[in-house]
Amino acid sequence: MTATEASQRRKPRQRGVEEVHVLWISEGMSCDGDTVSITASSQPAIEDIISGLIPGLPKVHLHNKVLDPSLGGEPYLAPFRAAARGELGPFILVIEGSIPNEQINGDGYWTSFGNDEQTGEPLTINWWIDRLAPKAWAVVTAGTCAAYGGIHAMAGNPTGSMGLADYLGWDFRSAGSLPIINVPGCPVQPENFMETLLWALYHAAGSAPPPPLDAQLRPQWIFGRTVHEGCDRAGYYEQGDFGKDYNSPKCLVKTGCWGPVVNCNVPKRGWMNGIGGCPNVGGICIGCTMPGFPDKFMPFMDQPPGGSLSSAVVRPYGAFIRRMRGITNRTVNAEPKWRHNHDALTSGYDPRWRPRPAHQTGPTRPAEPHSKETT
Ligand code: SF4
Ligand code: SF4
Repeated sequence: MTATEASQRRKPRQRGVEEVHVLWISEGMSCDGDTVSITASSQPAIEDIISGLIPGLPKVHLHNKVLDPSLGGEPYLAPFRAAARGELGPFILVIEGSIPNEQINGDGYWTSFGNDEQTGEPLTINWWIDRLAPKAWAVVTAGTCAAYGGIHAMAGNPTGSMGLADYLGWDFRSAGSLPIINVPGCPVQPENFMETLLWALYHAAGSAPPPPLDAQLRPQWIFGRTVHEGCDRAGYYEQGDFGKDYNSPKCLVKTGCWGPVVNCNVPKRGWMNGIGGCPNVGGICIGCTMPGFPDKFMPFMDQPPGGSLSSAVVRPYGAFIRRMRGITNRTVNAEPKWRHNHDALTSGYDPRWRPRPAHQTGPTRPAEPHSKETT
């Protein structure tokens, strides 16, 4: 054991929290699709986390308007108001939807989540973020809109929308010393979000290190590979075999798939219970998890600019390899020639191990040329 390992072992275990609130605000610019999406998670299921079925987690109190048992209104807002006053904690703040620029809202407002108790004026998501984010033990975004701005932040939008890190700063640190944790996707893939939340909860419990994030603040273990690297159709790409329309089972790069340059695990993980996964089931990848989405991937149905070059390069190599593999494939699809019902055994069987009659004793018979085939 090295000195570092020994000192790490001697370090007292970080004391974790026993209860945590999850304050989930979906009043950013969004369609609430991420909330709907996570209800489909099964590994882990949201209900397993809330009902304490997963060992080692703190007790979790979820406050999400779609999944909350209250009828809404003030009872629903109460924990949010308490957290804003600094009277509730620890809590994880989940933001769904992009953050509009309320400095350019004219005489109105872009979003609202409850009203000011004194004035009755609407409270914007920006108001809530300003008060809750610095107090939150962790801040997590659900979906591409909250992570990077998404559809509401595309060129020509009137709201000045942005992602949470653009709003709070990319060097933001929560009260638990964590950077913003981005879980993009449009909507977010259910297990991607719940698995990340689970990791954060184990970290809160003191039994896991902080979730490892990449430069775009995404969980590394989820977004470390491209769509292409996990795509069922990648074999067609490698062989230069491209589909011309969406009915084709072949690679879809010529019909607009951006998979080779997009970080997403959906072809591996599927959409629900392992089923689906955009290109696997005939849908081109439009890069919905990416910070540059949607502008950098439009128009969606056109072949990606780099796709023409890479497919042109791979086509001659792929065509040659495909032909060679075709020949080998035909060979291995035929049975060996000794499987017949003729009156002779032609399998190369060699009875060397049998005791030989006395008149045949002498030097060992050399192996037949075909004996190798039978070993
Ligand atoms: S369909 Fe897309 S992700 Fe799949 S192999 Fe083709 S280019 Fe790659
Ligand atoms: S495969 Fe592409 S379009 Fe599908 S979820 Fe992933 S990034 Fe989005």
